[in-house]
Amino acid sequence: MNVSPPRYSLVLPIYNEEEVLPRLIERISSLIDRLDGEAEAIFVDDGSVDGSVEYLRKVVAAEPRFRLIELSRNFGHQIAITAGMDAAVGDAVIVMDADLQDPPEVVLDLVAKWKEGFEIVYARRVKREGESWFKRVTASLFYRLLEKMTSVDIPRDVGDFRLVGRKALETFKHMPEHDRFVRGMFAWMGFKQTAVPFERPARTLGQTKYPFWKMMNLAVHGIVSFSEKPLRMALWGGLAISALAVVFGAYAIFAWVFETGIIAGWTSTVVIVSLLCGINLFMTGVVGLYVGGIHAEVKRRPLYVIDRVAGFDKAIRATAAPDGSRRSFRKPRNGASADGRTLRQL
Ligand code: UDP
Ligand code: MG
Repeated sequence: MNVSPPRYSLVLPIYNEEEVLPRLIERISSLIDRLDGEAEAIFVDDGSVDGSVEYLRKVVAAEPRFRLIELSRNFGHQIAITAGMDAAVGDAVIVMDADLQDPPEVVLDLVAKWKEGFEIVYARRVKREGESWFKRVTASLFYRLLEKMTSVDIPRDVGDFRLVGRKALETFKHMPEHDRFVRGMFAWMGFKQTAVPFERPARTLGQTKYPFWKMMNLAVHGIVSFSEKPLRMALWGGLAISALAVVFGAYAIFAWVFETGIIAGWTSTVVIVSLLCGINLFMTGVVGLYVGGIHAEVKRRPLYVIDRVAGFDKAIRATAAPDGSRRSFRKPRNGASADGRTLRQL
């Protein structure tokens, strides 16, 4: 029986990954065997509608080092990661995608750096295989834009594949924001951080769960939650356009006084009105993004809802959350149901 708390926790968000799961379980098992300490793997089912959950339930029942958290619906990748990290008890917690695009073997390199004394070790994609030209270009544009827009130094070409130590994890647990851009949150908190390069292979099984609009959403959230620059740009943009309007107004008065070129300027009117309308709508939208963010925060809803958990009874420390924390993990009474409670109690 596994009595001592594990040294390593792996967190894997799962959304409709039934094709990959058999291969993933194999690779994760052999990784756990190669790690130099006790390890647990926490699978977070993010409301899958294929056979993923049924498969995971079977696997978790048979392997004491595996745990399963089933969220009550699809909450999104960033929230699924958060749920897994909230429940992790290891001294080092490793977050990785379930589709094997984050090769489990790289975890050994992350661990080696952690042992050198780095609190946060992220895996940097030096090569992205099998990704469309479009995804590569938009990703690179996004990282550049993020770098320009935010005051926090968010590393380039780094996704959510990373190892974090206990200190960083506890800090993360005290960050209650709803608008979660996890990689930015870890960049913000400081500590000794470093990167390990890796070649990101193509997804061989299953489909990407990040269609274009989801990617755009993540990009917008990343910028809005870490930067006020778009708001300031609205101010300067507005000022610049007002200055142009003054010049144009002066010209109009001049033309009226000297009766030159008094042909009603239909074209210029239409151009100016539509331009201003467009800019106005855009700026209102930008403000709306921030107001929407505030709205989501003030509702103080839990970040996620857990339907069931499995595999936790043996190793999880059913401790109360530290003072000031807004969430806690409660050990389910019968090991099967979390009683509809959420990990993050507000
Ligand atoms: N994922 C999730 N919830 C979602 C979308 C994705 O938990 O709503 C998981 C997915 O199962 C995978 C990881 O997040 O383990 C990354 O997704 P994906 O590989 O589709 O993204 P990509 O690599 O194409 O950016
Ligand atoms: Mg992937």
